[in-house]
Amino acid sequence: MRVNENILISSLTTMRLGGPARYVLEVESPSDVADAYGFAAQFNLPTFVLGYGANTIGHDEGFNGVIIINRMQGITETPVSDGVELKIMGGEFWDNVVAYACEKGLTGIEALSKIPGLAGAAPVQNIGAYGQQISDSLISIDVYDSASQSFKTLTKSELNFSYRHSILNTTAKNRYFVISITLNLKPGQMPHPFYNSIERYIAEHQLTDFTPSGIREIVSTIRADKLPDPLEKASSGSFFKNIYLSNAEAEKAEEKGYPVYRGKDGNKINSGWLIEQVGFKGKLLHGFRVNDKAALVLINESAKSYNDLAKARSEIIGRVYDKFGYWLEQEPVEIEP
Ligand SMILES: Cc1cc2nc3c(=O)[nH]c(=O)nc-3n(C[C@H](O)[C@H](O)[C@H](O)COP(=O)(O)OP(=O)(O)OC[C@H]3O[C@@H](n4cnc5c(N)ncnc54)[C@H](O)[C@@H]3O)c2cc1C
Repeated sequence: MRVNENILISSLTTMRLGGPARYVLEVESPSDVADAYGFAAQFNLPTFVLGYGANTIGHDEGFNGVIIINRMQGITETPVSDGVELKIMGGEFWDNVVAYACEKGLTGIEALSKIPGLAGAAPVQNIGAYGQQISDSLISIDVYDSASQSFKTLTKSELNFSYRHSILNTTAKNRYFVISITLNLKPGQMPHPFYNSIERYIAEHQLTDFTPSGIREIVSTIRADKLPDPLEKASSGSFFKNIYLSNAEAEKAEEKGYPVYRGKDGNKINSGWLIEQVGFKGKLLHGFRVNDKAALVLINESAKSYNDLAKARSEIIGRVYDKFGYWLEQEPVEIEP
């Protein structure tokens, strides 16, 4: 286990905000994980599990506690009757997992290409993009349970997945440390019809390769055009969640002329559209640029303080609520000081 002291959270997160964390422990084995929680208990300090920091925001005061990062790597492949089971250690970079699966011609996660982060974080908010979610292919996760101080396996049904939700970010928030995840992937291709923007791109460019690698290439190109690369521009990706509507609410919204997408995961309005409609697309708010390609992404151009983010966030939420009556919800989690 590597023990680091007084590390700026801004250097560990892609939004690049946040003061010092008292300890950052990098764990390289399951027994290290138990030791890391023991270390925190010994000093009576709170813990926070961090991955790549692509969906996490720090506060100016930092964190008087112990941040634990999973550095365990490796992918193990086991053939099963309907495809392959991949057991992926939580410290693997998620996009390497997608690349691995696509190279082997396995379908199930190709549309999740280029989502920044570590594999251990992927089930936490049930990452999703372009019509796929990790819950579609996840079978189970191996965890350390900090409440009972024991190692466990949690199955997909126990994780209670929905849009950007699992028990890991709701009822059991901060309880489990994800050591590894197991996916079931199959040889073949994604079923038709594909997500709207993939279909549009295929039609525009007259493409015919719908293999996992072909879809990965399409998704990577669409994303590169629309979303900031966290190594170049500080952001947490989508800062707001999309708005999900019941059938009755969706009908009302359509009567008002709002664009409602009816997908297999429910009816939704893109929050980026709402933000664009209130005139914020491309604007600079308290050091944050509202992305001119996807307005639900905030890019930290010059903000240094969490307060700047709080001001930009409340202006956007307030303006959208006043015009549409929808309350935007923040997607990234925060390390509470
Ligand atoms: C440019 C950009 C584009 C993005 N696009 C998408 C997208 O298309 N779809 C999407 O769903 N997300 C997207 N995101 C958000 C982000 O990439 C995902 O949420 C990703 O899973 C975060 O991984 P991470 O390792 O950075 O997690 P972190 O930000 O480090 O952690 C996120 C949460 O997971 C918890 N966590 C992390 N590791 C573990 C672990 N081992 N055990 C238990 N809990 C853990 C943390 O405590 C925290 O609550 C995007 C972000 C950026 C910056």
